[in-house]
Amino acid sequence: MTPPLWRDTSISDAPDVEFSAGGVVVRDDEVIAIVPVKRDASGHRVLGLPKGHLDGDETPAQAAQREVEEETGVSAELVDRLGDIEYSYERRGRRIAKRVAFYLFRYRSGDVADHDHEIEDARWMPLEEAASALTYEGEREMVGRALSRLASDR
Ligand code: ATP
Repeated sequence: MTPPLWRDTSISDAPDVEFSAGGVVVRDDEVIAIVPVKRDASGHRVLGLPKGHLDGDETPAQAAQREVEEETGVSAELVDRLGDIEYSYERRGRRIAKRVAFYLFRYRSGDVADHDHEIEDARWMPLEEAASALTYEGEREMVGRALSRLASDR
């Protein structure tokens, strides 16, 4: 007999899954880094890349572009996919397994001073510096990939 759903530990122990998309926005040798108003789980400031959840039937690339434009205040054009990062975190006692797809964007226009209110600061930073200064290893890796990609284009 099949056990009731709530007794199936393979289901109740499975983490919730979350997906977002984000961008490495480049102009010359610089990238946009952001400091979200929201702190990390220990209350520390985070230096990161713009990203967010998909809305409606958006593709990951469309969501990444919208999040870049909303969060940083600039408009940018999609260049290429960079890859995914994965991490997990806890929310209200539940483990969340998260994947974020990152894309490379070329800056088009606009000013990072026009970032949105969920962002404390949005700033241009040398790619080399961001590759070591961003808070999370996965995002540093995405900046590293952008650097390799841009170097091979030259
Ligand atoms: P989104 O920007 O996708 O809407 P969010 O603000 O809801 O996301 P996250 O930024 O994923 O949530 O943050 C959830 C938790 O995971 C926080 O504690 C955050 O500090 C941590 N976190 C965020 N990015 C990473 C990462 N690349 N590696 C490890 N932990 C991360």
